[in-house]
Amino acid sequence: MSILQLTLAILKPHIVKHPISLEKIRNIILTSNFKIVKSKRKTITVDEAEEFYEDHKNKFFYNRLITFMTSGPSDLYILAKEDAIKDWRALMGPTKVYRAQFEAPETIRGKYGLSDTRNATHGSDSPESVRREIRIFFPEFDVDKWYSEEEPAFRAKHVTFSDDLFIHKASIS
Ligand code: ADP
Ligand code: MG
Repeated sequence: MSILQLTLAILKPHIVKHPISLEKIRNIILTSNFKIVKSKRKTITVDEAEEFYEDHKNKFFYNRLITFMTSGPSDLYILAKEDAIKDWRALMGPTKVYRAQFEAPETIRGKYGLSDTRNATHGSDSPESVRREIRIFFPEFDVDKWYSEEEPAFRAKHVTFSDDLFIHKASIS
């Protein structure tokens, strides 16, 4: 098994408000063999949302996107898996809710997306985006340190899972 990849996932505010959807998506994450390296629930600030979505500044949907993303608590996760970026985006499905519902109804966005803006989840699109997005939401997390100190244990599945914290921790061997 090769080295694990990290990705940043967000469960957007309408999911965190709805305990049943939240639980189902968390189960999808666990049964798809992602390890949860960091987990945080917080209301994203306007500054954070603007930095996070800076590439979309000129899009027609930018204002509604910032308003929605800062409207209540989101769940932010750093996930680890061999092909974490691609696998998480495949589980999420297409960005646009109608495409998701028609072309990929079994995906997370197909099932839990409400509109093109409220499309349930976020996933990083490249290793560069992962590092940028982790810096915004987990500034205390050192990616390089994680790779040298924790990745081997995670890869070997020497981890324990805490249901309460929704997080995996490297177990002491
Ligand atoms: P993805 O989240 O799949 O990477 P983008 O990076 O293109 O998609 O867009 C970022 C977010 O902006 C989307 O997840 C969605 O919340 C919102 N968004 C994208 N396209 C639209 C649209 N046409 N109308 C409304 N909101 C949109
Ligand atoms: Mg994107």
